[in-house]
Amino acid sequence: MTYDLILAGGGLANGLIAWRLKQQRPELRVLCIEEQTHLGGNHTWSFHEGDLTTEQHQWLQPLVVQRWATYDVHFPQRSRRLNSGYASITSERFAEVIEPALGDALLTGRRITELTPNGVVLDSGERLEARAVIDGRGVQATPHMVLGQQAFLGQLLRLQAPHGLTAPIIMDARVAQSEGYRFVYVLPFSADTLLIEDTHYVDQHSFTSDQLRQHITDYAGAHGWEIAECLREEQGVLPITLAGDFAGFWREAAGQPRSGLRAGLFHCTTGYSLPHAVRLAEWIAAQPTLHSDSLDVGIRAIAQHAWQSQRFYRLLNRMLFLAGRPSNRWQVMQRFYGLSEGLISRFYAGRSTLADKLRVLTGKPPVPVNEAVKAAVRYLPKHYQARHHLPKHNEN
Ligand SMILES: Cc1cc2nc3c(=O)[nH]c(=O)nc-3n(C[C@H](O)[C@H](O)[C@H](O)COP(=O)(O)OP(=O)(O)OC[C@H]3O[C@@H](n4cnc5c(N)ncnc54)[C@H](O)[C@@H]3O)c2cc1C
Repeated sequence: MTYDLILAGGGLANGLIAWRLKQQRPELRVLCIEEQTHLGGNHTWSFHEGDLTTEQHQWLQPLVVQRWATYDVHFPQRSRRLNSGYASITSERFAEVIEPALGDALLTGRRITELTPNGVVLDSGERLEARAVIDGRGVQATPHMVLGQQAFLGQLLRLQAPHGLTAPIIMDARVAQSEGYRFVYVLPFSADTLLIEDTHYVDQHSFTSDQLRQHITDYAGAHGWEIAECLREEQGVLPITLAGDFAGFWREAAGQPRSGLRAGLFHCTTGYSLPHAVRLAEWIAAQPTLHSDSLDVGIRAIAQHAWQSQRFYRLLNRMLFLAGRPSNRWQVMQRFYGLSEGLISRFYAGRSTLADKLRVLTGKPPVPVNEAVKAAVRYLPKHYQARHHLPKHNEN
């Protein structure tokens, strides 16, 4: 049998594509192949209300386990409540909703060992053909991107008593800083359960999982929250893009349509990919034909646009990673969170205006902007520097 579309990997991006196609194009023969026993892995995927349109919120609603109307941030010299909504999807709910909807369009527990734009080979040796294959097997190392890391470990904790929080804390930077920008992220899921994540923006993370667990225990202790049990744990190292060569990155794909992190479709500063994944799922469902060539060209154009429109975020990342002293980098975010709610919401949605960008850079940024601009050149891949006759300040 030849499928219309094979989705290689059943994570966030491909899971949403499969689900959206099932809803809107049920006539298509789609197969989503995931090596784990369930779709979605082990994540809590969160997003800001302003990241999605009303229609997107509607079709995602069955996946949402919690919504909050506001969120808080805390820095040594600034605490603020933002009147902007925040929501979370868990991978458990993702699997509960999408797996039955896909039915026999889902194959789990099978590893893909080879992949081309028109077919995959499974670990059993079986070969499956399709008009198009989309590779959504998650992030892949590349020499064409200069990346920092957002390394974190989160624990869903049941407490002995109610914690008293009514809103998530997206950043609590009132914690010891070390090699880079560190903050704690807290989501109150019920009166006595919290997801607490210890997060580090670093060049290369060096903390062990046990050290991150200890940070969480210490943070809970400092707030008087007595831990009854740890219900779940999740961990990640997300790519934070400082600079790169988009054309080189995409050439690696060699005509293979991609999705999700593998397509570079994520917010350069937060590493979050959910809004991009939602938009890509909608775009794919709207295509009259799903041929590998046209998908490759179309997804490349989407990824290129995402890359170009995030140039400013890569500059911000260099301020966070490369300029000034590591122990002072939290000041970049403290200052940022003093700006208007609209600007902050557009930043997370990846829709900053020129006025927003100027506003972030004018005044007295806590780390030297010049240093961050120049750092682009220093950290670009060597072959990219040579090809573009660098140094000059034109990181793309
Ligand atoms: C713990 C964690 C929390 C995160 N929180 C957020 C958040 O709050 N908001 C947000 O927007 N982003 C978040 N992210 C970042 C990003 O959105 C996620 O990493 C997201 O899951 C990426 O989606 P993806 O589809 O590209 O890859 P993934 O979701 O990682 O999916 C890849 C899938 O491919 C499968 N696979 C890999 N190789 C094979 C193979 N050979 N054969 C078959 N299957 C294979 C994997 O098992 C996996 O299920 C988080 C990341 C992590 C790690």
